[in-house]
Amino acid sequence: MAKKENRFEGYDITTQAVHTGSGYDAETGAVRRPLHMANSYKLPDDLSKVNYSSTDLLMYARNGNPNQHWLEEKVAALHEADDAIVLGSGVAALHALFWTLLKSGDRVVYPKVSYMAVYRMFHELFNQKFGVETVMVDMTDLDAVRQAITPGTRLVHIETPDNPTIGVTDIAAIAEIAHENGALLSVDNTFASPYNQKPLQLGADFVVEALTKFINGHGDAQGGAIISNDLATMDRIRYEAQVNVGSVISPFNAWQIFRGCVTFPLRMERINASTLKIAQWLETRSSVTFVSYPGLESNPGHELAKKQMTKGFGGVISFGLDTDDKTVERFCAALKVVTFAVSLGHDESLIFPQPSYDERIHLYPAQFQKGFIRFSVGLEDPEDIIQDLDQALCAVGL
Ligand SMILES: *Cc1c(COP(=O)(O)O)cnc(C)c1O
Repeated sequence: MAKKENRFEGYDITTQAVHTGSGYDAETGAVRRPLHMANSYKLPDDLSKVNYSSTDLLMYARNGNPNQHWLEEKVAALHEADDAIVLGSGVAALHALFWTLLKSGDRVVYPKVSYMAVYRMFHELFNQKFGVETVMVDMTDLDAVRQAITPGTRLVHIETPDNPTIGVTDIAAIAEIAHENGALLSVDNTFASPYNQKPLQLGADFVVEALTKFINGHGDAQGGAIISNDLATMDRIRYEAQVNVGSVISPFNAWQIFRGCVTFPLRMERINASTLKIAQWLETRSSVTFVSYPGLESNPGHELAKKQMTKGFGGVISFGLDTDDKTVERFCAALKVVTFAVSLGHDESLIFPQPSYDERIHLYPAQFQKGFIRFSVGLEDPEDIIQDLDQALCAVGL
């Protein structure tokens, strides 16, 4: 596909979030994009011109639908990028990228701390099923990264801040090491979001966003995106992973996320401010063993985060309580404003304990081995959230 049209290039992200991809409905003049719930589109009279693997021609929903295409324009604009592909989930987007780029015998370098499905894909699936050489490395240790990225490495994948320890990885430095060795760099940007961090501008080749999280922001739709300026590879992803593997987004979910995008920059501005305030408060509590948030001056990634996260440090904090798994669960259950559930980046605050029996806990720094909790700050009043955390700590005697 050609570079995505963006009539609002150069405008502030808040203006672009409102206007890019938006437009009048041609049939009715409505000032909202309609929802096209259709699997099939009228074919042209001359079928000799039709390419059934094309994603340009509206023909069949798996090849593309208008709601997906409009959302792709908005998501590309949020990253000031030439192209975006929107698929059915964040994991579908990660898989589509890896599936297209990697083949047997290729080497991929992936982080010690990453989203669960990335760990599974590289720890047990791509290596065992397809003979891809997968190498796990601590991405905060640049010497280790340099050693792991040998010539012949096809892809380096990073996540920053990472899920679930909120560790910070140097995007520009790893892009340089990857490119020196002829490898590509992909960055999972879900925790930072494009409001705070734009990895393509720091040298990354591909960005993945779980649209399910902050970009949609309302906890009611699942979607994912790959964002890049490499138009040729993006078309390969469309062909190899979207049309011929089929991880498409439903028009309805695309429509919902398109609407979520409009308020995304405003929500992030609020979430950045609330999260910093709450992280600072947590640091003052004696029963809190550690607080991991790049906005804190005490954080080892703070200086780096200030360089690559230009507007704020995002909405997820990890922290520890000086207690056992059972008491952590009781603390989470005692919260009244904060919801005890998985996921993050919703309008409501979400809390999720990472129990000490988690299969990957040994991969995290020592302090995370006990009483570890991931907390996603929502749009509620930050003082109400702090009071809620305080009453729940008191309720379990902490
Ligand atoms: C949630 C998440 C994903 C996956 O998104 P889904 O829409 O749940 O598939 C990928 N990466 C990170 C960092 C996430 O937090």
